[in-house]
Amino acid sequence: MPTVEVLAQGFMTATSEGGLGYCSVNLIRGEELTLVDVGYQNRRELVTERLAAIGVKPEEIKRVVLTHAHWDHSLNLPYFPNAEVFINGAEYDYTQNPHPGDWATPAYIGDLLNRAQKITKLRDGDELEPGVRVMAVPGHSPGSQAVLVETGEGIVGLVGDALPGRAAAILPTPTARIVFWDEAEAERSARKLLDTVSLVFPGHDRPFRNAGPGFDYLYPQSITMRNPPRDTDGTLRANIDEGAVAFVSLVQPTAKRKG
Ligand SMILES: [Zn+2]
Repeated sequence: MPTVEVLAQGFMTATSEGGLGYCSVNLIRGEELTLVDVGYQNRRELVTERLAAIGVKPEEIKRVVLTHAHWDHSLNLPYFPNAEVFINGAEYDYTQNPHPGDWATPAYIGDLLNRAQKITKLRDGDELEPGVRVMAVPGHSPGSQAVLVETGEGIVGLVGDALPGRAAAILPTPTARIVFWDEAEAERSARKLLDTVSLVFPGHDRPFRNAGPGFDYLYPQSITMRNPPRDTDGTLRANIDEGAVAFVSLVQPTAKRKG
């Protein structure tokens, strides 16, 4: 039976100087080692360290699944030169001619994908190996997909930004939150995921249970800041703002509007 682990934690932490938008990089151990999303350059070192800890070199990864093509999920692709890259067909097609206003899918992503050793376009329900299949969850992007893994703990969903975090799941109407493509589809996809999976491995948060009112996280999490800004006299100039950022839906100019 395949197992799933977080290789690098996803975040959507905000700072006064911009967001820490790191996507989750997850690993499925089944018949094959499958990386789900690869992150971007800032995390190459971390991903290398985490892979080294389990005795794997990046060039030994033979299979990468992208939940979608957004830059923060895909820019590390050249770091896995021997991987066959699996992406939803609609997502691939979109990358070849993205909307010029789509800041998450710059035109060079299409080129990056075409440089992969091998690209395989998937459709809803396609199976990668026994117990590992994809579900189309469009809306956040044209061809977002989740990877569903049958484990001893039920179906684990590696859902990308169709449900970027726990906060998206506990909304009265769960959704992707940031919608680049289709609001109604984003809501349908979020609902479909919550009707299907036991555990959610989200795109920008840590795993949580799809159960009870709390949608409890599987484990606590912290982040350590190193080399924080200091004045010449050494005074620390980093602050923690406990106030939460309002969790609103952000519909991008590239999205088709509701109704
Ligand atoms: Zn995204």
